[in-house]
Amino acid sequence: MTDTQAHDEAHGNGLGARLNWLRAAVLGANDGVVSTAGLVVGVAGATGDRGALLTAGLAGLLAGSMSMAAGEYVSVSTQRDSERAALATEKRELAETPEAELVELTGLLESKGLSREVAREAALQLTERDALRAHAEVELGIDPDELTNPWHAAGASFLAFTVGALLPLLAIVLPPASLRLLVTVLSVLAALALTGWWSARLGDAAPWRAVLRNMGGGAVAMAVTYAAGELLGAVGV
Ligand SMILES: [Zn+2]
Repeated sequence: MTDTQAHDEAHGNGLGARLNWLRAAVLGANDGVVSTAGLVVGVAGATGDRGALLTAGLAGLLAGSMSMAAGEYVSVSTQRDSERAALATEKRELAETPEAELVELTGLLESKGLSREVAREAALQLTERDALRAHAEVELGIDPDELTNPWHAAGASFLAFTVGALLPLLAIVLPPASLRLLVTVLSVLAALALTGWWSARLGDAAPWRAVLRNMGGGAVAMAVTYAAGELLGAVGV
């Protein structure tokens, strides 16, 4: 349910990190829309009872958002643990073998396209200013001051999923019974078009293909759960 890749990238600093956070939020909202829509449409296939729809939708919203938050928390905590361990190793190496570390940093800068003399000079200056930060950034690709906070990641996932899940929940319980399926399907497809388009733009992919895929996925989810709900309703389970 979580998009591991999106949040694996969602750390660091600057514009790229902000875009990754945004993309993770859009994907989280998308998850909330699809899974809750599938749930409430499935229940609507079995029963017209508004209370049952509300209960199912709300339970689905809470279960999904907490599952997303817990998954994010565990995954980001693990990632932060390994980043901290890597920083500790780096710190020890800098204390024990500073000369080897300078050679290493020089080599890394050289491999980025600097000449040996310039790389050596840059490595010397970086080491003098903040050796650990230089190795963290150049060698490990992490900002030691901005390790991702697992609580922030969990909260963001919870919120994104909840925002997405509210749409099908409200769309199924608010309209009169005769219109609820139509309103839900149309608003879900519209929302999926939006999240598909947005996530494609954030990821520099072709928007229209992403929009169609995303709407198709949601349509299949709703059709399958509706058919299953109707079947269960018909046999009187
Ligand atoms: Zn190093």
